[in-house]
Amino acid sequence: MSASTSSSTSFSATLMRPIMAIPPGPRKVMGLTLLWAVALLFPIVHSNDADIDSMANAAAYATLALGLNIVVGFAGLLDLGYAAFFAIGAYLYGILTSFQLEPAWSPFWAFVQHFGLVAPMPAESGTGQVVHFTLSFWLALPLSAIVAAACGMAFGAPTLRLRGDYLAIVTLGFGEIVPIVARNWASLTNGAAGLNGVAAPTLFGHSFGVSATPYYYVAILMVALLILVSNRLRDSRIGRAWMAIREDEIAAGAMGVNRTRLKLLAFAIGAAFAGMTGTFYVAKLQTATPEMFGFPVSVMVLVMVVFGGIGSVWGVVVGAFFLQLLQSWWLQDLTIWINEFGSLVGSRFLEHVDLVPSIELIFGIILVVMMLYRRDGLIPATRAQKALSFDQQHAVVRRGVTEDFLPLGLGGESRDGTNALEVKGVTVRFGGLTALNAVDLVVPTGGVVAVIGPNGSGKSTLFNVITGLVPADSGSIRFHGDELIGLADHEILKKGVARTFQNIRLFPTLTVLQNVMIGMHARLKTGPFSAVIRPPWSRREEREAEAWVLEMLKVFGNRLSPRITQAVGALSYANRRRVEIARALASRPRILLLDEPTAGMNPAETLELAEQVKMLNKLGVTVLLIEHKLDVVTTLADTVYVLDHGDVIASGKPDEVRRNDEVLRAYLGRNAQAANAGMGAVHVA
Ligand code: ADP
Ligand code: MG
Repeated sequence: MSASTSSSTSFSATLMRPIMAIPPGPRKVMGLTLLWAVALLFPIVHSNDADIDSMANAAAYATLALGLNIVVGFAGLLDLGYAAFFAIGAYLYGILTSFQLEPAWSPFWAFVQHFGLVAPMPAESGTGQVVHFTLSFWLALPLSAIVAAACGMAFGAPTLRLRGDYLAIVTLGFGEIVPIVARNWASLTNGAAGLNGVAAPTLFGHSFGVSATPYYYVAILMVALLILVSNRLRDSRIGRAWMAIREDEIAAGAMGVNRTRLKLLAFAIGAAFAGMTGTFYVAKLQTATPEMFGFPVSVMVLVMVVFGGIGSVWGVVVGAFFLQLLQSWWLQDLTIWINEFGSLVGSRFLEHVDLVPSIELIFGIILVVMMLYRRDGLIPATRAQKALSFDQQHAVVRRGVTEDFLPLGLGGESRDGTNALEVKGVTVRFGGLTALNAVDLVVPTGGVVAVIGPNGSGKSTLFNVITGLVPADSGSIRFHGDELIGLADHEILKKGVARTFQNIRLFPTLTVLQNVMIGMHARLKTGPFSAVIRPPWSRREEREAEAWVLEMLKVFGNRLSPRITQAVGALSYANRRRVEIARALASRPRILLLDEPTAGMNPAETLELAEQVKMLNKLGVTVLLIEHKLDVVTTLADTVYVLDHGDVIASGKPDEVRRNDEVLRAYLGRNAQAANAGMGAVHVA
């Protein structure tokens, strides 16, 4: 058994060897050239119009799947009403090229006629003229993308606050509403009967007519364009921010990602893809009925995305083509074979069975099988990484931060006697529980301040209120003079406050490099357009950002540098802590908030990290630290604050605080003295 598997893998390896011998760069170019050559030659070589039509439909579904992949795959927003945007684009073209709307001709329309959008036409009643809309298909493609994107934003603005299941339900509702409106607003859409006489596109004066070939080429070009757009978005600052939201919304916000804006952007771009496809689809069918855009379409596109590989650009294209051709080619062929087989063996059931109507059942089965055996889809978005070799793992650690890091622009704060952070009278209540009670705390610029206290004393809540994660009931938090209370989490990061979390919040399926690059989000400028167009400044920005991160990771010696392409979910606990600190450092913070950074580390690792934090502080990073290990606190901190039940019970130099009676009592229990007395009693007895 094992022999046969190994021989089969070596057989395929032998087959692949000449291909794998080509370097990856040229191999990719060759593969793509071959693929597009086949795609472009297909209608010429295979001149069956019905098959070309099926391929054009499959390509249209591929563009839909690419759009939904941005929403569901990249940004992680479950959208069950995606077909609504498909419908919007479809009806836009359908209405503006058919005879559905015929307002009376007026001087205004004569003006519009200059742009070739309308033409006068004798009215049916015989008197006067009416308007015939003649929007060009080529203009309608970008227009429907823009209109659908605008609808996506209008719909998304109030609903994208919702997450997961709630968002799914709201989008489901939206997806139901649009076809219902189309069915009932008969004066605009001709209701259930559908639009008639939708114009075919023309190119250089030639109408596309009823031949499938020109549509096929338009669809293939759309797929190519949207693959390019998807790939470029994914590999940009925007794509990283989407994936950050998908993996951990709170961490994304804390690292400077404006969640509302980026979610809306994903929704709008996804909707734009669908709107464009709608125009294409209706131009091809030359009709539009409400049934074409119902819930089954949304589900089908979602199945294509899941089947191909959520978040995988090529995966969803392959998934869409496969499932669409399964429906239009293979199931029909299979039905015919089964029927013939039935008549051969004399089975009436097999003779009359028809697989095509059971397509949804078949999709369901495919989905279940995929979930059981290949969850990441046909072409997974992330590939498994090879583990490091023994030598790589045990290479000498270059410990600490040296002066070489100064030019990196890390820190640079000097102890000039001013205060970086001033917390005054901050109170935070969770219902009846007062987690922080009129807390005062200052962090001098360039200093290291530690916060200690028993579990549940409000330390993490203090960090949360400073970074905008929980609202304060009263008080003020000033950072270099600016009030932080009332600002959103991403705005606070932008001011230079970066943090880590007690229970590590990384983006698990992303690589070390991607995680740390997300920390730079607020310091980079590339937006959606420059991500797609890639102007020279944006390329340079990306290149420099990556070089900066690679250099900065050396702060941790070779703990992280050899692992930049590994998914952080696979790292050791200590390394995950380091990635989180590196991610915070990548935002070039003026103050670094570390919530129990050495929790879960062994003594050697703790010592190493303490040393690194100390060196970072020497470079001029102001640090506010929550820490349980008192030796770490004593070596690092200038000042220590002790919290107990939300109150600051002591503050001062580490040694003073260590001797404070109240602190001992808080740490060792209410009756530390009593315990001492008790020991005395035992001794006497
Ligand atoms: P520490 O970090 O010092 O261990 P925390 O700041 O996490 O303590 O918690 C302080 C108190 O506030 C605890 O009693 C905790 O249960 C409560 N608490 C923290 N966050 C929340 C929240 N989001 N909702 C309700 N209670 C909370
Ligand atoms: Mg805590």
